[in-house]
Amino acid sequence: MIQLETGFCVVGGGIAGVCAALAAARRGAKVVLVQDRSVLGGNASSEVRMHIVGASCSGRRPGARESGIIEELRVEDAVRNPHRSPHLFDLLLYDKIVSEPNITLLLDTSFVNCRVAGGRVESIRAVRPNTADDFLITAPYYADCSGDSHLGVAAGATWRMGREARDEFHEPHGQESADTKVLGSTILFMASRKDRPVPFRAPAWARKFTEKDLSLRSHREWEYGYWWAEWGGELDTVHGNPRIRHELLRIALGVWDHIKNDCPRAADDPTAAYEKWMDGEAPPRTSEGPENWSLDWVGMLPGKRESRRILGHHVLTENDVVSGRLFDDAVGYGGWWIDVHPPAGIDAVHEYPTAQIEVAYLYSIPLRSLISRDIVNLFLAGRNISATHLAFASTRVMATCGVMGQAIGTAAAHAAAVPLCDMTAAQHIRAIQQMLAEDDAFLLQPPAPRDLARESRITASSEAAGYSCAHIASAFTRATSPALHPSLPDSPNQWRSTALPAWIELRWPAAVAIREIDLIFDTGFERELTLSMSDAYTAKMIRAPQPETVSHYKLTANRAVIAEVTDSFQRLCRHKFQQPLLTDHLRLDVLATHGVPEARVFAVRVR
Ligand SMILES: Cc1cc2nc3c(=O)[nH]c(=O)nc-3n(C[C@H](O)[C@H](O)[C@H](O)COP(=O)(O)OP(=O)(O)OC[C@H]3O[C@@H](n4cnc5c(N)ncnc54)[C@H](O)[C@@H]3O)c2cc1C
Repeated sequence: MIQLETGFCVVGGGIAGVCAALAAARRGAKVVLVQDRSVLGGNASSEVRMHIVGASCSGRRPGARESGIIEELRVEDAVRNPHRSPHLFDLLLYDKIVSEPNITLLLDTSFVNCRVAGGRVESIRAVRPNTADDFLITAPYYADCSGDSHLGVAAGATWRMGREARDEFHEPHGQESADTKVLGSTILFMASRKDRPVPFRAPAWARKFTEKDLSLRSHREWEYGYWWAEWGGELDTVHGNPRIRHELLRIALGVWDHIKNDCPRAADDPTAAYEKWMDGEAPPRTSEGPENWSLDWVGMLPGKRESRRILGHHVLTENDVVSGRLFDDAVGYGGWWIDVHPPAGIDAVHEYPTAQIEVAYLYSIPLRSLISRDIVNLFLAGRNISATHLAFASTRVMATCGVMGQAIGTAAAHAAAVPLCDMTAAQHIRAIQQMLAEDDAFLLQPPAPRDLARESRITASSEAAGYSCAHIASAFTRATSPALHPSLPDSPNQWRSTALPAWIELRWPAAVAIREIDLIFDTGFERELTLSMSDAYTAKMIRAPQPETVSHYKLTANRAVIAEVTDSFQRLCRHKFQQPLLTDHLRLDVLATHGVPEARVFAVRVR
């Protein structure tokens, strides 16, 4: 038995778990990340290949993109992986995790059980069969990011699975009575065009589909499989997973067989279904047939949407989501519509594969929904948070899962520094919100930043109309408007020069001691950015450094250059100093960008 002691143990290395581990480690906590597969990323990994979306609703809500760790991952992937290899995304996550000295990564290692005493998880056991290793991991705090709530259920936390009755939480779209049905799972595939015909013969066990069966499910694009090829929502998606996998393979191969060999109108699908999910942007109609298209990859791991959810101190509901509720203990936000599917999935032939309930504004996610109500040291992030089925149908998208992961990682790091604190107490919430805002997480009601820039006189070489240099000390670090949430000001919250090179200078009446300078640049939140295997969705993005972003800058204090970066592409650029830097002025020179002819800076934070 290998014994490990750590400050924070994260079970599950999907997007939620990765962001939780990174946030905690970067805030100084020792972290063990337990992931049962050989790659990180969960449904976003090369094993499933689902694209990460979030509050921007695939382009329908420009400006709402998640900042913080999830943005760092998306931007870096676009720069390092312009050609959209799903394997390079796995490697990017691996690189990020192994580059943090505070993280011990256990791949191919499954959580199996835990010891609980006095309402706390004391230790967990995990096994790595391929090395015949058995781990006993002890930590003051744990996170269940396994998607299926494996840790929470084993710890005896209250959980539920299925759809609530309308009356329980007074949810307008709730159903008459509760049931155990959930959203189904999907196996995706990838295909590509070749220069000669490629025949396809399905195995005898594949399903057969007629055009009638798929009349509400557009199959006009062939390079990337179909999220609607969904099944298993009427089964127990935890214990029934092997059966679901086989059925999903039968479905994926059956759909491809239909496209290749049976579809009477594959080249010009007349259904309007597609426009419903791609923001009205139908792909160009083509006379090309599927003859030259070959099936290149079929997932073997069901992409799982829904299973068990742990109950926390607050259960997020449809009303919270739809009303854009602002919680005092908000540590994240969401914005994806409430995206419910028929549990029968592809077998619900006469139903559209999704029924979207409008979410007009961003809503906040309280920390109380991310802590088990029964197990005091158990955090939650991702699919298994404390939400009703309807609220979950919005929070489940991976950028929102990443936001929650960053939130609980930050909370765990705070808790590790203040042992046994009641995390729901106001002073701790404020401290966590402050840390999150400093690390570029977006909160709808951000705390006033701890920022010496606010005490300085700020001048700039030039200012584009409406883009005052004073904006760099705002608590908001993105363009805000009441369209995102009625409480938000209508402001670009950005300094923008009229030309390049450009400078901005901060002057204090007396010398200040600077330990850290954070620069927040523009990475084009008005545009979509994520790794997608869909060509139509990718057409909305730039797979390279974002043109708005500063590429070359220089920081000067006391008439000396204290930092110069020539190949920058990230939004948050942090400069830390071993010894406090004493100065009464600080200047940022922006010398070049990746495209735009002016400097665009959201914040110069000085601590
Ligand atoms: C077909 C499909 C389409 C979807 N469409 C989108 C979309 O377009 N965009 C979007 O953002 N979201 C989409 N979603 C939702 C999204 O993929 C999930 O909600 C999301 O993956 C949840 O992230 P997570 O980190 O909570 O869980 P997961 O991605 O499931 O990650 C959980 C991780 O925990 C690991 N794990 C599980 N059990 C153990 C254990 N015992 N020990 C150790 N590790 C364990 C797993 O290997 C996995 O890596 C879709 C989902 C599906 C299935």
